[in-house]
Amino acid sequence: MKKRIAVYPGTFDPITNGHLDIIERGLKLFDGLVVAIAESPVKEPLFTVDERIKMAKDAVKKYKNVEVESFDCLLIDYLHKRKAHVIVRGLRVISDFEYEFQMALTNRKLASDIETVFMMTAEGYAYLSSRFIKEIARLGGRFDCFVPPNVAKMVKEKF
Ligand code: ADP
Repeated sequence: MKKRIAVYPGTFDPITNGHLDIIERGLKLFDGLVVAIAESPVKEPLFTVDERIKMAKDAVKKYKNVEVESFDCLLIDYLHKRKAHVIVRGLRVISDFEYEFQMALTNRKLASDIETVFMMTAEGYAYLSSRFIKEIARLGGRFDCFVPPNVAKMVKEKF
């Protein structure tokens, strides 16, 4: 049988326990997941794409069948290149919905062979975002409980 591979795209600046929760949920549905790190220059990420890849690779080494890669093209072109047909995205709060809905419909219009699957976050991570981690770190607060240990180390080094 053909393996079902899904792509989980995002900025991952940095990867958090909330992202890992979505990866674990995704692995229950798919044979493999590709964590696809968008360069996202418009978002002016704190970490370079290489740093984000390194953090994500370390964080997912405990899972089988998860790959990490960056991409700087249209997401649907990246999926076609990877011969994947499913985009996985996480949903936290209602405010995520509008943007995610627009993006899913746009991608569907551009590529009708690709579906977007939304996974609902664990309650404990509903408020957690990469932006929140960076804000706490910048102001000298504790954020270790929101990210894997390798990420906490890199964030501390950055500030
Ligand atoms: P993007 O710039 O594409 O929004 P992010 O790295 O912020 O990249 O998020 C990637 C995906 O992970 C998005 O679908 C986002 O909703 C989801 N996500 C981020 N944080 C969480 C979380 N705490 N719980 C569930 N999903 C999350």
